[in-house]
Amino acid sequence: MATYIHTGMTAYVYRKIGGYRAFIMKTARDRWQLTNEELMAAWELDESAEPLEARVLRSNWCVRCDVCSETFMVDPEDPVFWCPNCLNRKQGGKARRIIFPEVQTRAEIEEILEKRADPRSRNWKPGETLSDLPKVPLKVPAPSAALSVRQWNIVHGEL
Ligand SMILES: [Zn+2]
Repeated sequence: MATYIHTGMTAYVYRKIGGYRAFIMKTARDRWQLTNEELMAAWELDESAEPLEARVLRSNWCVRCDVCSETFMVDPEDPVFWCPNCLNRKQGGKARRIIFPEVQTRAEIEEILEKRADPRSRNWKPGETLSDLPKVPLKVPAPSAALSVRQWNIVHGEL
């Protein structure tokens, strides 16, 4: 089944530029006029830096920078983050590790979120368990006399 939850590798805006790292480097180059050498050096991983946790925001696996608050889509196959906005200066300019849920858990989170009709309602944050995830999609009309119980359950993905 095609996934509706995107990553820094599958999202069109990233793919058309050449993928996750290419997108991040282009963003940094556009904002700060860095040289290619500076950009390549940025991916050196600082193992001692506190990792960032990935989350799903509006159908996309993302990381929110805990220094400057900018949010970027990230790639579970390349769980490293270097912020093209603040350049990870607080960590000496080096990249930080990203923590994603385990593969199976990630698939289960995506399976639940994909049932939500509105892409903006497909969100998950670290610490939220599978049973925490609300089963009722947002932006769906409340039950009314016009909907039978069966129709209501179908609309809400409970059948
Ligand atoms: Zn930042």
